[in-house]
Amino acid sequence: MNFPFPGQSQIEHLYIHVPFCIRKCHYCAFASQPLTHDDSKRYLAALSKELFWAKKNLRPRTLFLGGGTPSCLDNGDLEKLFDLIQSIDLSQLQEFSIEINPATITPEKAALCRRAGVNRISIGAQSLNDKILRQLGRIHSAHQVSETVELLRETGFTNLNLDIIFGIPGQTLSELEETLNTLLELKTPHLSCYELTFEPGTPMTLQMQKSGFEPDEDLLCSMYNLILAKLAEKGIHRYEISNFARSGFECAHNIAYWRGIDYYGAGPSACSLIRGIRYAHPSLLSLYYNAVIPKQNKKLGLTSSSPAENDFWEPDQISPLARAGEIAAIGLRMSRGWDFNEFYAHTGFRLEKQWAKALQKLISRGDGEFFPGGFRLTDQGLRFADLAAEEFIITE
Ligand code: SF4
Repeated sequence: MNFPFPGQSQIEHLYIHVPFCIRKCHYCAFASQPLTHDDSKRYLAALSKELFWAKKNLRPRTLFLGGGTPSCLDNGDLEKLFDLIQSIDLSQLQEFSIEINPATITPEKAALCRRAGVNRISIGAQSLNDKILRQLGRIHSAHQVSETVELLRETGFTNLNLDIIFGIPGQTLSELEETLNTLLELKTPHLSCYELTFEPGTPMTLQMQKSGFEPDEDLLCSMYNLILAKLAEKGIHRYEISNFARSGFECAHNIAYWRGIDYYGAGPSACSLIRGIRYAHPSLLSLYYNAVIPKQNKKLGLTSSSPAENDFWEPDQISPLARAGEIAAIGLRMSRGWDFNEFYAHTGFRLEKQWAKALQKLISRGDGEFFPGGFRLTDQGLRFADLAAEEFIITE
């Protein structure tokens, strides 16, 4: 396997994964673990090495601190994380996002974020109904969500996102409507609305299997349509299946990801896309730590050498055509679809030729449409984008 970086030009999109939460939510399948003092020290030591080694190839225009829950780090560790980030060339940085939990943000941490240059904050609200929040295993209350928005505004942040989840077992249309009404009163310029997915092995999925709960497709469609209508009424447009924004507040980092542009992911479980190859770091903090600071180096005190290549990069080697198919599918999650020339510039393949049959099939079932110079999914196609994606996947 070739090391991905030699000769690589500057990567403009950087993701840093913070793998800690106070405790696991019942539906969560993300790479996160309960925060401990020792683990956060080990994490920061390993991340410091990774960024030291990678920074010569990074000049981010967007930076996204996600998790996990970055805001659960204590003040000292959050400050150290921001210090590590300052070692990167941030001269081109335009958008610096962080994910926070309403239960772990404080005035001091908000001020630290502001001083570090964070200019976009994504708040994991999920619902504004305390009963549903308990059902999800969230550690915050509905009231803390509005308090958080107020605190962040007082600290000077204007570019705020609220994440919510719909399709929770037992949730009704009118409950969702109440949550949306209250969320809209908070007037954040960006909302992310995700349908709950039942990931294998989570407590919520096990509970669902035990009780024989079956998702009600009609209700899910009504919920999604309600979200579309309510947000459109307020001038908040859908730009990706689950993402809605006032003009000018779309998340540039996520857009780069949906367009198949190179990005670098640092930290345990983080993925990178570099020259058409997707790489993943080990998910477990212990494996990540050992790969970044190999044992023999620790013994010799050689902690500044590059991470052990084979342990650190798990390449997902698929052909350029298969990668282009993957990028086609991900890009069609955006309302704007694909401009054919833009797709060609990103992938080297012509969407309208290589997938001509797939485009016709989607059009014939009402899921897709041409626009001058490009193709996009219709409202119906966007609702079932995972099904549309299957048309572009090339198995080898
Ligand atoms: S806060 Fe997010 S990452 Fe952490 S456990 Fe809950 S869903 Fe998972």
